Amino acid sequence: MSSTISLSTYNFNDYRSLDNETLNRRIRKAKAQLGERLLILGHHYQQDEVIEHADLRGDSLELSRMAAERPCESIVFCGVHFMAETADIVANRPERLRARGGRRVTVVLPDLAAGCSMADMAAIEQVENAWEDLGQVIDTTEITPVTYINSAASLKAFCGRHGGIVCTSSNAEKILKCAFAKSKRVLFFPDQHLGRNTSLKMGIINEQMPVWDPYGREFGGTSRAALENSRVILWKGHCSVHQMFRPEHVAAFRQKIPGVQILVHPECPQEVNDIADLSGSTGYIIRTVKSAPAGTKWAIGTELHLVNRLKKEHPEQEIHFLSPVMCMCATMYRIDLAHLCWSLENLVAGTPVNIIRVDDDTAAFSLLALERMLAIV
Ligand code: SF4
Repeated sequence: MSSTISLSTYNFNDYRSLDNETLNRRIRKAKAQLGERLLILGHHYQQDEVIEHADLRGDSLELSRMAAERPCESIVFCGVHFMAETADIVANRPERLRARGGRRVTVVLPDLAAGCSMADMAAIEQVENAWEDLGQVIDTTEITPVTYINSAASLKAFCGRHGGIVCTSSNAEKILKCAFAKSKRVLFFPDQHLGRNTSLKMGIINEQMPVWDPYGREFGGTSRAALENSRVILWKGHCSVHQMFRPEHVAAFRQKIPGVQILVHPECPQEVNDIADLSGSTGYIIRTVKSAPAGTKWAIGTELHLVNRLKKEHPEQEIHFLSPVMCMCATMYRIDLAHLCWSLENLVAGTPVNIIRVDDDTAAFSLLALERMLAIV
């Protein structure tokens, strides 16, 4: 479990009516006052006006690595809740704490409502119940639990406790291969699409991938036979942003723009992933666009803010957003200039707000699952 601690000198309501110019000025001032003691991390899906104040930007794993490596006293994480938890775990891991004489790095999430709908689709109680139920049908010592990094610390700890491991969208295939080297099956959560798209690439067929619905009746809504025949048991979770992309969007772009390349994230459903030209993690999408020759035409299926930033940074290419409807991470969007300013000024006042703190036991087992991944990639 993680807890939240808030001290707060300033009331957030007083920040709501401030204009962006004032907020930007006050953020810059607070940053200058905190100097090297502060590290602001910004996820790629964050809105531009916030990302401009980030010291470092990246995806979930890159940001956690940065949090672990860069010395500081406080991290303000402009991302979502599970990312701040991971930053707390890695920045305050035992050897780092010892080296700092026991002083913890304070990790702040500017708005506590910045959660992740996908991470919320797998609660620890549901996963523990599923594990117990699976044990009635198959031998759980034959299953490696694999959690996508987009999950609560409690789920990473579950994997740590049960010989399991964390994966990211860039290393999922490598991690699954390692899991299969030591076990017959995998329980993959919370994102069914990443689990399915990755496993299909490895030659595992849909018939060997039953979907476990935590709200399903018996056997997670699947059947005893399906579980006995399984290689990967997929948790019924998804990203509400990437789930919005549809095969008809791909068809429409191909018809409208001859030569367009469809580039998507593997959190998109199989029907989209299968017909895309290229599929890969956020880092892969950025690298692919960066290295493409001028004049390349893209329709990209991932979070809207990232696609708009790529458009801005690569005017030499023709970049389109794959969906006709806006698919942005609404929870990440909650981190705005007002919340950033409020959290920084409270840090300057020595009364930090929204501190994300993972309890020691959960942190230790989460770290175990994260380190198993880092030892492989
Ligand atoms: S884009 Fe999807 S997976 Fe990523 S933080 Fe938002 S809801 Fe979660």
